[in-house]
Amino acid sequence: MLDCREASQAISRAREETLSWNLWLKLRMHLLFCHACAGFNRFVSSSARVLRREQRELVMPEPMKESLVQKLKKE
Ligand SMILES: [Zn+2]
Repeated sequence: MLDCREASQAISRAREETLSWNLWLKLRMHLLFCHACAGFNRFVSSSARVLRREQRELVMPEPMKESLVQKLKKE
């Protein structure tokens, strides 16, 4: 599990590059229970939303997206 320092680093890095799946998942999990980092993520992503969406569409094949959604629903 990420701590807040690692989470904020990952949030910043996500603006510049595509996070590994492992790190991206850990970040999502952290944001579920950490309001401070979730707020930071909202603030950062509001300025980088378009870029991030484009990156995600490029790097994430549909089946992978589906299985990820199913996995997150179970947890
Ligand atoms: Zn946090």
